[in-house]
Amino acid sequence: MKTSQTLIATLREVPAEAVIASHQLMLRAGLLRKLGNGLFAYLPFGLRAFRKVENIIREEMNNIGALEFRPSVVVPGELWRESGRWETMGAGMLRVTNRVDQELVVSPTAEEAFTSLIRDELSSYKQLPITAYQINTKYRDEIRPRYGVMRGREFTMKDAYSFHADQKSLDETYDNFAVAYRKIFKRLGLSVIPVRADAGAMGGTGSEEFMVESAVGDDTLILCPSCGYAANTEKAACEQDIPLNAEGKPQQKTDKPKEAIDTPNVRTIEELSSFLKTNPQTFIKTLIYKVLNSELDLTKAPGCASLKRVTDTGDAAKFYPVSFFAVCIRGDLDVNEAKLASLLKASEVELACDDDVVRITNAPVGFAGPAGLSSVPVIADESVLVMHDAVTGGLAKDVHFIHVEPGRDFTPFMTGDVRTVVAGDKCASCGAEYYSKKGNELGHIFKLGYKYTKAMNVTYLDENGKLQIPTMGCYGIGVDRALASIIEEHHDENGIVWTMSVAPYQAVIVPIKYEGAMKETADALYEEFKKAGIEVLLDDRNERPGVKFKDMDLIGIPVRVVVGDKNLPNVEIKERAKPEPELIPSSKAASHVKTIIDAALADLNS
Ligand code: ATP
Ligand code: MG
Repeated sequence: MKTSQTLIATLREVPAEAVIASHQLMLRAGLLRKLGNGLFAYLPFGLRAFRKVENIIREEMNNIGALEFRPSVVVPGELWRESGRWETMGAGMLRVTNRVDQELVVSPTAEEAFTSLIRDELSSYKQLPITAYQINTKYRDEIRPRYGVMRGREFTMKDAYSFHADQKSLDETYDNFAVAYRKIFKRLGLSVIPVRADAGAMGGTGSEEFMVESAVGDDTLILCPSCGYAANTEKAACEQDIPLNAEGKPQQKTDKPKEAIDTPNVRTIEELSSFLKTNPQTFIKTLIYKVLNSELDLTKAPGCASLKRVTDTGDAAKFYPVSFFAVCIRGDLDVNEAKLASLLKASEVELACDDDVVRITNAPVGFAGPAGLSSVPVIADESVLVMHDAVTGGLAKDVHFIHVEPGRDFTPFMTGDVRTVVAGDKCASCGAEYYSKKGNELGHIFKLGYKYTKAMNVTYLDENGKLQIPTMGCYGIGVDRALASIIEEHHDENGIVWTMSVAPYQAVIVPIKYEGAMKETADALYEEFKKAGIEVLLDDRNERPGVKFKDMDLIGIPVRVVVGDKNLPNVEIKERAKPEPELIPSSKAASHVKTIIDAALADLNS
């Protein structure tokens, strides 16, 4: 391709809206433009790199026997009603109604579509296992799209779904994906941190996330320097520590009855610590949460008798659209809302608004406590279960309780681990101190089990002619996010430094001036490079050499061949990732550059 015939859309200034390197560079190198909030257009150079990422993913999927499908992006809402997710998906899912009032969904993910497709094709055990995938558009109405295509609203995902007669078969396919994902990331030149969602203490391998480190990552990774435990903070567990009082001693069990004390204008944990001159580890903090779409059975839960439970969704789970819970945790710890949502089998949890807190606790905000609370179920974090002689809110203005004994003064409806694990907490597997890193999720592999096949009635006949339900796995990778992550990992102050496997072009020929002998040599090299199978760009623009060099560095073309009067019959070959150029006779340039490219690709593919 000649630069005069394509669109070089480089920008000298850093666009104000872009804060991370990959977003800035995608705009500056002319790979990407914004169309709206979270909505983008790839320009020709960006699209070339994007297609290469896609193809590497496609090749590795095909290599493990996954079959590529192409479902529509807009799917009937009916499918989502069958799975039960029409109700539970929340506002992130874009729903539209067409002219005949049919409900439609712009796919945020495609478990429903693939489960329905396989349901229609599957009849016999002989067809299993089967793995289907697509590389296709997704739409999620993200609340805060940001960092360019790292978190967009419309994006492209490779999503795969596998169906199996038994767990062993699912395990095998899952393991194949685990290997294929590592190959994909290696070929893309990405360093990923595989994070087992159920690592360490729990054993098992039901889910693995592939994270890339990023200072502005939306996820926090909890890592153990000693045993290698790695978990997303949404799942991370830690060793239970014993709470200490102001003297640095464990608080002892007390026989003293719970006692109300006057604590005028004391609401926060800090105010309470200084008022009582003690350590927040002796307080039980109580937070009122509003919970959406909980699938728990609350028929026997305190205060839940009149709650509305939605039961008209066929085989899909029954759930409560809205419920409230009081969540208790040790005073110095924070509740992790992802862990809480998963404990409560809910789609979303959020702190209740002041009015709801006042109604539920019958007191101003700041005096919630579990003892004597009957209007909502109490959830106790495991940290609370080892506490003694604790302080809690007193369910009245300016009142706290002291000498509270969990189990004696209140009985939780449910207990579980909802604590936010942080650096410095002890490893759940080996006891060493955790450290943490920020990161983004690039991919995810997950054993789904029977959730969708049961809800959507997928069956097949086994060897004995008996009707069976298959088990399922699902596997995603964000294509745009992978592309942005490559730039995030491979750039310098002058621009992008593409990995050879995904560079929009592998080499660029830059004549100092596109005239005379330089033009002749550049044209001849261009033809030779193309014959040698090199994806080559010829910068035939009538620009100063400095401008052309700057543009090609910014765009990040891996090999630059400069054709200048002074050096002919030699040409200067410079690799983007290396500081020094070398002089090579122009007659050897094509084979030399081909060697560089092949070596780089072989290294990535090894
Ligand atoms: P996140 O926690 O970052 O929102 P997720 O858990 O919602 O991710 P999945 O539903 O597992 O993501 O989707 C699979 C992959 O799709 C992710 O690993 C990521 O690479 C990509 N992805 C998800 N949401 C977005 C988005 N808004 N923009 C770009 N890529 C995305
Ligand atoms: Mg998400």
